[in-house]
Amino acid sequence: MKSFMKKLYLCSIYATRPECCIGYPWNDANDIFPDCQFYDKENKKLRTIEEQRLLNTQQEIEQFCCECGKCCMFWHDGKPIHQCSALRVVESAGKFSLPVI
Ligand code: SF4
Ligand code: SF4
Repeated sequence: MKSFMKKLYLCSIYATRPECCIGYPWNDANDIFPDCQFYDKENKKLRTIEEQRLLNTQQEIEQFCCECGKCCMFWHDGKPIHQCSALRVVESAGKFSLPVI
């Protein structure tokens, strides 16, 4: 299998992350990104986690967020200008080898 390096966006305080992060993206605590996996473009709404689990496995959902990380950054004019101090950006080889941080 071909190996490759991929950036992963990991929360270093995941177990104790604040309520607004636990409820995201359904609590309107942040902007909704059009390429967020939960955004249902056809119906212009957010899929619930239960609806998303009908489309993807839990592992796929987690992997997608780890490779996206957009909601852990602050954006201005379509660009990330700051990232949460708890966010760790790491390089990982292979698709499902999430490092322990
Ligand atoms: S990390 Fe990306 S895909 Fe996951 S909830 Fe945030 S914006 Fe959506
Ligand atoms: S990295 Fe920051 S913004 Fe992202 S889930 Fe963790 S505490 Fe929340």
